Amino acid sequence: MTNLEALAVKAGDDLDGAEPMDILRWAVEQFGSSWCVASSMADAVLPHLASRALPGVDVIFLDTGYHFAETIGTRDAVAATMPVTVRTITPAQTVAQQDAQYGPRLFERDPDQCCALRKVAPLESALTPYRAWASGLRRDEAITRRTVRVVEWDAKRGMVKLNPIAAWTQEDVDAYVAANGVLVNPLMYDGYGSVGCAPCTRRILEGESARAGRWAGTSKIECGLHT
Ligand code: SF4
Repeated sequence: MTNLEALAVKAGDDLDGAEPMDILRWAVEQFGSSWCVASSMADAVLPHLASRALPGVDVIFLDTGYHFAETIGTRDAVAATMPVTVRTITPAQTVAQQDAQYGPRLFERDPDQCCALRKVAPLESALTPYRAWASGLRRDEAITRRTVRVVEWDAKRGMVKLNPIAAWTQEDVDAYVAANGVLVNPLMYDGYGSVGCAPCTRRILEGESARAGRWAGTSKIECGLHT
């Protein structure tokens, strides 16, 4: 086990139950500015928290080429109004180039490959300069996320992963948004429980979980960024 991995494992235990700001301040103590936030722009809660710990913090947004206009608008509003540095990351190929090589609508025929090309690989290279990254994963979002730790070792990328709001519920998020006037993607007020690429995201129905609208009708429930 490397020193960095041991640090992550210990912090995962020590900071379990800690407030998100304490987890993010720990990140600043450990890594200075060598960490970033990844945001889907469903809301700006994590960028807001992170900017309080580290003004100017890098916020990575994966522009897959398939986003809703509302998501791009939220990204632009975050960049224009918040003390963060938004880094928009694009895949190696445009959608047209991907269509030419793999055929159109790859997201229907092989969403895992589409996500690998348009999300996982771009994030991989975007994270290279950092020692740690933070995501907004929450345990209450999906069964696959129940065991998420607030700090963990990202073995695939050899870096520390922070999940500062892992223990928060949607009510906690809503309360933070209301108390701090945080930007929220308009789609979240229009029936969407989670925001991803337009072809793979639908509104959720009464009683469905927040992520039920992602890749609905398939067995896929994660894009591969967090597995
Ligand atoms: S969410 Fe859908 S469109 Fe977006 S990268 Fe994955 S498969 Fe492709």
